[in-house]
Amino acid sequence: GKGIAVFTSGGDSQGMNAAVRACVRMGIYLGCKVYFIREGYQGMVDGGDNIVEANWASVSSIIHRGGTVIGSARCTDFRQREGRLKAAQNLIKKGITNLVIIGGDGSLTGANLFRQEWSSLLDELLSTSRITADEKKKNGVLHIVGMVGSIDNDFCGTDMTIGTDSALHRIIEAIDAIVSTAYSHQRTFIMEVMGRHCGYLAIVAALASEADYIFIPEDPVEVNWPDALCDKLQQERNAGQRLNIIIVAEGAIDREGKPITAEDVKKVVVDKLQQDTRITVLGHVQRGGNPSAFDRVLGCRMGAEATLALMEATETSVPCVVSLDGNQAVRVPLMECVEKTKAVAQAMADKNWELAVKLRGRS
Ligand code: ADP
Repeated sequence: GKGIAVFTSGGDSQGMNAAVRACVRMGIYLGCKVYFIREGYQGMVDGGDNIVEANWASVSSIIHRGGTVIGSARCTDFRQREGRLKAAQNLIKKGITNLVIIGGDGSLTGANLFRQEWSSLLDELLSTSRITADEKKKNGVLHIVGMVGSIDNDFCGTDMTIGTDSALHRIIEAIDAIVSTAYSHQRTFIMEVMGRHCGYLAIVAALASEADYIFIPEDPVEVNWPDALCDKLQQERNAGQRLNIIIVAEGAIDREGKPITAEDVKKVVVDKLQQDTRITVLGHVQRGGNPSAFDRVLGCRMGAEATLALMEATETSVPCVVSLDGNQAVRVPLMECVEKTKAVAQAMADKNWELAVKLRGRS
């Protein structure tokens, strides 16, 4: 059978384990030899115990766990050709020529580069006697398929990334908890949520929790936002509301591109309205905890589809990323999505927010 390896790379997110599990079991079901690579690209470069064969039972009892049980890492070695040479050698020694990458756009870019370089890496490994001519012949083409694990839902080409739904659950649980104390004391709470370039978590959490105001990166507020904010908060209090909730995404800015922090917002509310105001920064709580049912099923569907995509890959096929389209796991061209995601980041840097939102599409 074919040699397949699955690994998680970059930031962790809930639901990655479900994706790993589905890849492994679909691979075994189809008669492949399936491996885990621990600690992302670092494990691929270091080899040894980091690359281990998986069996049916080794992915039991992981679907409900947060994070990634096979570990993730950032890896500077893999950014250098020498690191990628070592990685290629380690894979070839085990007959692995199919990779499933679960990560963000950086991890997917690295995988694509690795695939493009594969034959030149093999040439160099052969000429330095690190692999045999027979090994080179048997492992001539590298196939890759990606899945996006990210709580931010910041990747173009998919309706949802693995982990976003669970992060939303963490956020609204926290807001619900805060609301009861805010109500008792007639307080205003400012919640800082993750999202450096993408306000998805902030917007959806605000809708789900009746927040009064949000600050996000891709729809920056006018520079006179303090007046608009205070008018809105006062209006709610006048209507009998006992508390206010304001959500600030990490990457929130105003129309001139100036960052807006939870502290900035607090200062405005305290100075202008003299409201009793507190800040809660959710931080890594958002990445933690058990994955939601949605993320478990999303990981399962995507993982199974990823393995199927590898089975059908040919020398000339374009590498794909498995994405969610409505409620279907579908294959879309990997680098097209990565390029589009990078174009969104560029549009944001250029303060062309309309273009950024348009490029990002449905999610
Ligand atoms: P994410 O995948 O979440 O976007 P990073 O951008 O940190 O996270 O990428 C994760 C890892 O992928 C990096 O630590 C590095 O090992 C690898 N990687 C990222 N970009 C490249 C690249 N251009 N070339 C080679 N490897 C890369």
